[in-house]
Amino acid sequence: MGSTLWATRPGDRRTVPVTSPDAPHGAVEGEKLSEVQRGPVATLRRIAFLMERQREESRRIEAFRKAARTILPLPEDEVRQRAEAGTLTDLAGIGPSTAAVITDAVNGVVPERLARLEKTAGPLATGGEELRARLRGDLHSHSDWSDGGSPLEEMAMTAMELGHDYLVLTDHSPRLRVANGLSAERLTRQLGVVDAVNEHLGGTFTLLKGIEVDILDDGSLDQTPEMLGRLDVRVASVHSKLRMDASAMTRRMVGAVRNPHTNVLGHCTGRLVTGNRGTRPQSQFDATAVFTACAEEGVAVEINSRPERRDPPTRLLELARDLGCLFSIDSDAHAPGQLDMLDFGAARATEAGIDPDRIVTTWERDRLLEWAARRL
Ligand SMILES: [Zn+2]
Ligand SMILES: [Zn+2]
Repeated sequence: MGSTLWATRPGDRRTVPVTSPDAPHGAVEGEKLSEVQRGPVATLRRIAFLMERQREESRRIEAFRKAARTILPLPEDEVRQRAEAGTLTDLAGIGPSTAAVITDAVNGVVPERLARLEKTAGPLATGGEELRARLRGDLHSHSDWSDGGSPLEEMAMTAMELGHDYLVLTDHSPRLRVANGLSAERLTRQLGVVDAVNEHLGGTFTLLKGIEVDILDDGSLDQTPEMLGRLDVRVASVHSKLRMDASAMTRRMVGAVRNPHTNVLGHCTGRLVTGNRGTRPQSQFDATAVFTACAEEGVAVEINSRPERRDPPTRLLELARDLGCLFSIDSDAHAPGQLDMLDFGAARATEAGIDPDRIVTTWERDRLLEWAARRL
């Protein structure tokens, strides 16, 4: 059975189809098909996914995602005819390289680009495979409602394909204007879309409602308590004044951890160790005080899987382990393929010898939700 998700893009009242997870193109039910057998949309999505997990340049990746969105609503026959006639590039959003991929897929040929990328498809990190297999979901992800690159439906679909039971959508809060943070009104609207997506998905996978809420200078959270209370999971992170002095930063972070709405302390040091945004030193704070508060409040310390962050640093990860904290291995994905970066976090947690039962993302959904709501 093929299914098409219908997306309402932020700020856009039109409904457009964005994803075709398993457009069958003559598929036999139950048979495991390659992307090419599943058709050009699946092929384009697979290429984009593999490029994203390799951290290729997002502008280049967007061409494949855009081409997938362009041909998804078209009848199969039209795509085939255009491939034969060489008129795919007449369509907005399709250029020569994406047209070549579509033409190959229509003809049942594995595009060379896909063949090359498939060679990179194994685990992104070694040492964490066993733990990675136990992870049931991810508590930190972004869609194009804030600074992510893809519609939330595409994020959900990819999380499903990765075998997750749940994904928490955590777009940014209002003060983070550079990231198009969501006002209470926009977040309310997003929650309606999340409900619609879950209805469509039918219950085996759940897109959970969340936020990555800014920790303001005084330790308060950048969203109303009413709004925070409507969400399933709340990740609280520092994004501004990362260099404030250590005692003020400690008060700020402890304040956020003590807030009963906070479930996860996101990328606690704010450092960047590699990547196109450059590097940034870690914030200075009394880590023993912050992690002790996390342990007392049952707030999970995030193991942020992004290679750019590797946050917390190993020394702090071990300190949080020794102080009895819970952990959450998160992707902080801003594109679907980045959801796969949990491999990195799983490897780091394994290396630090963290008991999997202290990692909340190994928990079943109901246990996770009970934990997240227990202080409200
Ligand atoms: Zn963040
Ligand atoms: Zn984030």
